[in-house]
Amino acid sequence: MTSAVMKDLTHQYIMGTYGRFPVALDHGKGATLWDPEGREYIDFTSGIGVNALGYGSQPWADAIAKQAQKLGHVSNLFYTESPAKLAEILCKRTGESCVFFANGGGEANEGMIKLARKYSFDKYGHGRSTIITLKNSFHGRTITTLKATGQDLFHNFFFPFTEGFRYVEANDLDALKAQDQGDVCAVMVELVQGEGGVLPLDKDYVKAVEALCAEKDWLLLADEVQTGVGRTGTLFAFQQYGLLPDAVSFAKGIAGGLPMSGIMANEKCRNVLGPGTHATTFGGNPVCAAAGLVVQDILSDAFLREVTAKGQYLRDSIEGLALPCLGKTRGLGLMIGIDVREGWTNKEIAGKLIENGLLVLTAGSGLRLLPPLIITKEEMDKGLAVMKSTLA
Ligand SMILES: *Cc1c(COP(=O)(O)O)cnc(C)c1O
Repeated sequence: MTSAVMKDLTHQYIMGTYGRFPVALDHGKGATLWDPEGREYIDFTSGIGVNALGYGSQPWADAIAKQAQKLGHVSNLFYTESPAKLAEILCKRTGESCVFFANGGGEANEGMIKLARKYSFDKYGHGRSTIITLKNSFHGRTITTLKATGQDLFHNFFFPFTEGFRYVEANDLDALKAQDQGDVCAVMVELVQGEGGVLPLDKDYVKAVEALCAEKDWLLLADEVQTGVGRTGTLFAFQQYGLLPDAVSFAKGIAGGLPMSGIMANEKCRNVLGPGTHATTFGGNPVCAAAGLVVQDILSDAFLREVTAKGQYLRDSIEGLALPCLGKTRGLGLMIGIDVREGWTNKEIAGKLIENGLLVLTAGSGLRLLPPLIITKEEMDKGLAVMKSTLA
């Protein structure tokens, strides 16, 4: 099928919820993609932080095929091997105690919100259901996670929203302390705000939030939907912040491109969501979990150190190009934000780069790069060359 036919069919038959770039994609290898006409694109996006192993990974495709032939799905009323193994690895590598598997990031955050409210209800009864989130955060597109998102822009059209969220400025401990009005059960943060513009939280602030939560018996909830699974150079970002959150959500990269998400919880929260309190039909699908096992296998500690080194290389190289429209870079590992200077817009720059064969994302008012974690130096250099020739 040609690009033109793909675009026509999409416009005719798929709801127009996405402002798409005018590019159709057909296949890929590593961090390189091709359109149906054979035009090449270097990928600095991984979907949106999903394809940790890039495109066409042989062990990933083999594991999926093998599991699909063996057992594609059974209900969670029975036991299966691959999700059990994946949960064991996640707990052993992070110090968390148990996992609930779901399908997408917003859904995982919904589960985490339910966990926090029930933890508090079980212990203190009614009246302690408020969750504090940060301004400029992003937590999902369901009615509840839209309301959990600390940006007014998202609190529109879909009234009535779920009650019980308040927002505070990031990195301001006093603002958080001022929320102690007897009704709080949890604080939910992204350790690096992703959609908000790739903004890492201060380490001292996060440690102080952890201590405050412990003192008040508020749960500390980390939304690692974007930062998790090696993206920031450790398996989860909380590990380099020196934390053990009470619960952590993950999604995007967990199965390297198949839809899967989940929450991990510590020992204190192990029994909060007992039988009948939470469930999802597709959660912990054996094929997705088999793909997740390959991702865990490839993301060794040595591999994760390379992620950090690659992120540093990209940031140094981009700043070294000294492009007139781009300013400073920030981020952790291969989660990179780039300031766009006054006089240019991120959408216009992204459009030009994509037109010239480099896929990038925007976040806040800047550019955002989330390359596949397996990206090679050669592919990074090709992408940098497109940046240079397009933007110099
Ligand atoms: C992408 C994202 C979500 C939403 O995930 P979906 O899979 O689109 O539901 C939630 N939180 C963060 C931090 C994200 O980056």
